[in-house]
Amino acid sequence: MQSQATHTNVDQAELAKFSDLAHRWWDPESEFRPLHQINPLRLEWINGIAPLQGKKVLDVGCGGGILTDAMARSGAHALGIDLATKSLKVAQLHALETQTPNVQYREVAVEALAAEQPASFDVVTCMEMLEHVPDPSSIVRACAQLVKPGGHVFFSTLNRNAKSFLFAIVGAEYVLNLLPRGTHEYAKFIRPSELARDCRDVGLEWQNTRGMEYNPLTRRYWLSADTSVNYMVATQRPL
Ligand code: SAH
Repeated sequence: MQSQATHTNVDQAELAKFSDLAHRWWDPESEFRPLHQINPLRLEWINGIAPLQGKKVLDVGCGGGILTDAMARSGAHALGIDLATKSLKVAQLHALETQTPNVQYREVAVEALAAEQPASFDVVTCMEMLEHVPDPSSIVRACAQLVKPGGHVFFSTLNRNAKSFLFAIVGAEYVLNLLPRGTHEYAKFIRPSELARDCRDVGLEWQNTRGMEYNPLTRRYWLSADTSVNYMVATQRPL
């Protein structure tokens, strides 16, 4: 892994939050339980739109590799990138221990990778990450540069409105204790219209949107048309 000292579109406090928890990425009952729970749902959704078998896939802000690993196991050649060194080490160790085929991890800023190898991935995923960076539009631009013409870029993030404040911050961090307090900052949440504008600005065509809902009583997630809290977007770079 090479270290990147020059990137600017990063909030060190955000990276520190994830690094502090890095040893727990693969504990399905840890703070990362929500990501483990939504993983099969998002994987199936992605695979239905852009079949992953044999594809070259980039996972931006991969953390401990929960989605990267699953995409590799679905037949993709997957590269996970992040700027939190500890999380990447955990991801690599997990891949070694569980012998995940065709998966690699690298510490590199997405903007730097876009300059280094533009138009080289069939699928780019950037999940639950845009709400943690100072300039999300720069990440969206880099993802658009990295995907091949005709390829797909998937994003997921948190919507910004009274309900998402109540559910994603008050509910998840203070009432249900699903996430550590301070995991999310309301002002950094992103409305679908804002993400749509960022995608349009860099030539990504908006294809599909799904909401993710959670029932605290059954502790289950499911996909729906309700994008008011957590949502995923499928976009495509035109041929
Ligand atoms: N995408 C993963 C992890 C989401 S948690 C998943 O959905 O399972 C958010 C991740 O974004 C953390 O791993 C954090 O280290 C990473 N991150 C935050 N800012 C970043 C940046 N500027 N560049 C790359 N990764 C970043």
